[in-house]
Amino acid sequence: MAAKGNRILVYLSCSKCKSKNYVTSKNRVKTTNKLKLSKFCKHCKTHTEHNEVK
Ligand SMILES: [Zn+2]
Repeated sequence: MAAKGNRILVYLSCSKCKSKNYVTSKNRVKTTNKLKLSKFCKHCKTHTEHNEVK
């Protein structure tokens, strides 16, 4: 039985314009480091680094 509460919702915000473009979930037990992904930002109209924010 999987323990409840190990997965938490995090937002991915553009490192350039700071808009929260994506919502994802992560396992806070296995993924303790901050997420950093290259995603398409509709505001910047290009791929930018997206960082995890709460
Ligand atoms: Zn942006």
